[in-house]
Amino acid sequence: MFPLFVFEEPEKPKRSAEPAQQTPLAVIEAELAAADLILINSSGGKDSQTALEEVVRTARRLCIPKHKLVVVHADLGVVEWPGTRELAQEQAKHYGLRFEVVRHKNANGESHDLLEHILKRGMWPDSQARFCTSDFERGPVQTLMTRYAQAAGRRHRLKPGQKKYRVVSCLGMRAEESDARNLLPNWTLNTSASNGLRDVFNWLPIFKLTKDEVWARIRASGVQHHWAYDLGMPRLSCCFCIFSPKSALILAGKHNRELLLRYVAAEQKMKHTFRHGFSLAEVLAAVDANQQPGPVLDWAK
Ligand code: SF4
Repeated sequence: MFPLFVFEEPEKPKRSAEPAQQTPLAVIEAELAAADLILINSSGGKDSQTALEEVVRTARRLCIPKHKLVVVHADLGVVEWPGTRELAQEQAKHYGLRFEVVRHKNANGESHDLLEHILKRGMWPDSQARFCTSDFERGPVQTLMTRYAQAAGRRHRLKPGQKKYRVVSCLGMRAEESDARNLLPNWTLNTSASNGLRDVFNWLPIFKLTKDEVWARIRASGVQHHWAYDLGMPRLSCCFCIFSPKSALILAGKHNRELLLRYVAAEQKMKHTFRHGFSLAEVLAAVDANQQPGPVLDWAK
């Protein structure tokens, strides 16, 4: 049998860390054919849209019925580049797939965008407390998995003869993105999303593709990509990502000044800078001085 790995956020590679053993495609294909639900996580970005295309291509080859494929977008609210959710929806529609939007909800069932959530917590997320992804992406997607499993009769406990609901969760991470990602396995048992009623496996369908190959696939597909890339942004999702370099923040600020003002006001209110020793007030000053960001290099998340 193939190896099972626990999949969580990529961690910084340890000096002695070796790349994980990769699962052969034939094994993954057998799992896909047996899955009840193939969930394609889409940020609307270039890697998500290429992962979506790859999953659709594979599913067609395996004659997997379309109703088993669902695209899910974790909506972070106003912090995303404008039009991101709509684009993710268009991309799903292009392939004729069901599209779901999930949002973070607090204990009272109220929805807030990421910036409101940050203000309530009184702190910015960082690599040690990455609640932006755990609260706004992983958690709401797992709630969706529960909804689908329940709709398929997996409630409370399995009935006699009933099998666990099988979910394959597809993510657009690529080995080339960072040293940490290069160490990831392409197929894992996601133990934190699995429970007594369901097994969840994470699959990285474009793990080995390079950035150039991703863009070539997008051009060949004819599917629309987000305009932020044409401005020079290497990544989508939050306009102001906690991991992005200053040049990316300036470029994003030039095109999203109102949002930048809200971030700067949040820093002042919380008395806590965006990153240790770095305030977005510097970015606002650069934007207002019409400072050019220069080439924006990609960053690891
Ligand atoms: S884009 Fe950056 S700030 Fe936004 S959710 Fe992802 S890691 Fe967090």
